[in-house]
Amino acid sequence: MKVYNTLTRQKEEFVPLEPGKVKMYVCGPTVYDYIHIGNARPYVIFDTIRRYMEYKGYEVNYVQNFTDVDDKIIKKAITEGVDSKVISERYIEEAKKDAEGLNVEPATKNPKVTEEMDGIIEMIQTLIDKGHAYEVNGSVFYDTKSFADYGKLSGKNIDDLEAGARIAVDETKKSPMDFVLWKPKKEGEPYWESPWSQGRPGWHIECSVMAKKYLGDTIDIHAGGEDLVFPHHENEIAQSEAANGKPFAKYWLHNGFINVDNKKMSKSLGNFFTLREIVEHIPYDVVRFFILSGHYRSPINFSKELMESAGAGLDRIKNAYKSLLFMESKAQGTMTEDEAKLNEDADKFRVQFEKAMDDDFNTADAVTAIFEIAKFANVNVSENSSKDFVTAIREKMLTLCDILGIKPIEEAKDEQISANEVEALIAERTAAKKAKDFARADAIREELSSKGVVIEDTRAGVRWSYK
Ligand code: AMP
Ligand code: ZN
Repeated sequence: MKVYNTLTRQKEEFVPLEPGKVKMYVCGPTVYDYIHIGNARPYVIFDTIRRYMEYKGYEVNYVQNFTDVDDKIIKKAITEGVDSKVISERYIEEAKKDAEGLNVEPATKNPKVTEEMDGIIEMIQTLIDKGHAYEVNGSVFYDTKSFADYGKLSGKNIDDLEAGARIAVDETKKSPMDFVLWKPKKEGEPYWESPWSQGRPGWHIECSVMAKKYLGDTIDIHAGGEDLVFPHHENEIAQSEAANGKPFAKYWLHNGFINVDNKKMSKSLGNFFTLREIVEHIPYDVVRFFILSGHYRSPINFSKELMESAGAGLDRIKNAYKSLLFMESKAQGTMTEDEAKLNEDADKFRVQFEKAMDDDFNTADAVTAIFEIAKFANVNVSENSSKDFVTAIREKMLTLCDILGIKPIEEAKDEQISANEVEALIAERTAAKKAKDFARADAIREELSSKGVVIEDTRAGVRWSYK
């Protein structure tokens, strides 16, 4: 498996620190509002990478933080006249609902800044003790000049950076490139006690502390959007490596941006959308499928037309799968010799899929492999196929869909009847209609309706969904 490592600027063979285990840290959202469509990309991409690693047999320890101390949260809390905690907890819950909608597996741990203050203060103290940080009037800054490797992730040179930096008027820092680790409170802001002042941490320190606490000094994968390379991830490296005296992360993975109508998304351009606004018109699974249809490092453009085409593509996969379920409900018996050969031949789609995913998680090509197995099923599986053959092909297709987190069929909620039962009843209804037993056909429609399933007769066959 090859992964593109931002640190070395090349694709490298993935070799975990410990055989069979992957320690993965993904920078999470700042929770002052619903997550936006851009935030959905790292959620889906790194979840897919995790799923693929799990499929390959790795045990993945997946940590994603919530930044619940931030100026924007404080500002919103003041506007609403509530405590910051009310805002952050509200949007943590909403982000979790969106992640669930996108079929993102829950993280092993979702640490929050407000619950990690002791570790944050301890690491800042270590950095001071080791000569990498200094205090000025209750603030603590990281001394970037003290860390020889500063700039290694982003490829920036510290002297160039310094020459280009604007010097603020009330500069208390030694160098404009030094960044804040702790800052004293301002009137009305939430604060915590520390050896330097009543205040709160700067943004970067939280991820160094959480990664160390939940995963260890050195981790396998650190991930986030490409905007985080500098300064956030560069600063994380400076903090962690100076404090721990060990390399921080072996592989750095960054997703490209989602643009809207070919422009950078921004509130002032009026092309800014929360995921919640989007899913009023486009289902979550189509958003996920859309995100997977491009390579994660390339920028992708979000537009109504592209979403519609993603929806049509996903429908093709779902229809092929539903038709397999339908045939499976009627078929009987074991594989013929020809079917056994075809079944073996169908393994090529898994091979094609793995080849794509092994090449730096090329989900676009992996999706193509699913389209191809769907086409194969449409051509080679029929009402005359044996049950074992239909099942085998259906399971092969499902395995690939699962890795990408695509559900080719809606899952029944607890109280609902299963998709298989629905397909069986629909098969019975079709047979009844053929035999002109319309009373029975109507009764089945009624039964399905009472069980929360709506059906629709279309030229392509019967379509159904849970109510
Ligand atoms: P934030 O809440 O802005 O810190 O972002 C949370 C995650 O979403 C980070 O990994 C960002 O890099 C990522 N992100 C933000 N905007 C976009 C975008 N337009 N496209 C892709 N990823 C983004
Ligand atoms: Zn981070």
